[in-house]
Amino acid sequence: MTLLSWLEHGLVQASTATVVIFTLVVTHITIVSVTVYLHRHSAHRAVDLHPALAHFFRFWLWLTTGMVTREWTAIHRKHHATCETPEDPHSPQVMGLGNIFWRGVEAYRLAAVPETMNRFGAGCPDDWLERHVYAGHPALGIALMLVIDIALFGVIGLTVWAVQMVWIPLFAAGVINGIGHYWGYRNFECPDAARNILPWGILIGGEELHNNHHTYPNSAKLSVKPWEFDIGWFWIRLFSALRLARVRSTGPVAAKVQGKSSLDMDTAWAIVNDRFRVMATYAERVLKPAVRQEQSIASPQTRKIFKRAKPGLIRHAAVITPSHERDLQAALSASEQLNVLYDLRERLQAVWSKRANAEELLEALHQWCRAAEESGVQALREFVAELKSYSVPATA
Ligand SMILES: [Zn+2]
Ligand SMILES: [Zn+2]
Repeated sequence: MTLLSWLEHGLVQASTATVVIFTLVVTHITIVSVTVYLHRHSAHRAVDLHPALAHFFRFWLWLTTGMVTREWTAIHRKHHATCETPEDPHSPQVMGLGNIFWRGVEAYRLAAVPETMNRFGAGCPDDWLERHVYAGHPALGIALMLVIDIALFGVIGLTVWAVQMVWIPLFAAGVINGIGHYWGYRNFECPDAARNILPWGILIGGEELHNNHHTYPNSAKLSVKPWEFDIGWFWIRLFSALRLARVRSTGPVAAKVQGKSSLDMDTAWAIVNDRFRVMATYAERVLKPAVRQEQSIASPQTRKIFKRAKPGLIRHAAVITPSHERDLQAALSASEQLNVLYDLRERLQAVWSKRANAEELLEALHQWCRAAEESGVQALREFVAELKSYSVPATA
């Protein structure tokens, strides 16, 4: 092989289609390394990985991103602990979407200070290889990847390498940390701005489902609705079948027991553990139909008031804006029915936020269910009946 033909086609003489497929495969492996290893395994401990698989991911991340497990883990844990506050290492709500989208990696670099590493970086690899190679020489891996790409594909290998290098900064740091706290839909009213960007998590390994993740941060599975898909979860299932992974948690999802109609301690714990889903069900089955009902009988003028009231009625108090608050108050003064339902929503939330012990919690729930049943609203009676069927699921 002459130098010229090697430069043109590389060692493997690959066609353009092969080069594109190679790029998609290697970038996907990098995304899987981030979501399964760094995120679900290292930062959240939602899944245990076989040491050989965990090491493969460490090596691959060094080769393709130069990211260090301890830095990523610590910064990500801090993000959850301080979400949407000035302490948050990458909140688009605080720092602006443009800053996080285009300069997300810089935000990581600035946040990697010893204080954050010590506070949030416990339990990360600290062996000889980590100290002397992966964390010691993070740029060496990506330089090696450049040599491999050029050796395999010739000059076009430079493009392959460039795509690999921008993949994580663009998708993980930019799209997830930026857009995932800005645009998309919310299944749950978690106390921060996290949103699901798309219901099909393929391109970014399932991380698209960011609202589900912030609601159930210790779940190894990021999809919750039947129509949502999390490819990271597909890989975890495959690794588990090969005995390379063990799932530790899939979130505190309550089980529903058909025919169960008494409110006991088991029900109370199931409700508290799965409170975000309880509140989402309350919004879906009680509040939204009531707003629609008010809209259908209102004059054109007042109809607008009810239309604008939904965010204030439904969102978590931590993410309500002053304009949501104004719209909510306008709707509450226009409808006695919404007042009753909103008051019950607040009281339901207070059941678990103000409880002192298990007995008080159960008693508060009993009182709430009685008040809801006595309201005479059919949707509320059905909601209470469903609550009573909740049970803590048996561990697998
Ligand atoms: Zn987030
Ligand atoms: Zn997380």
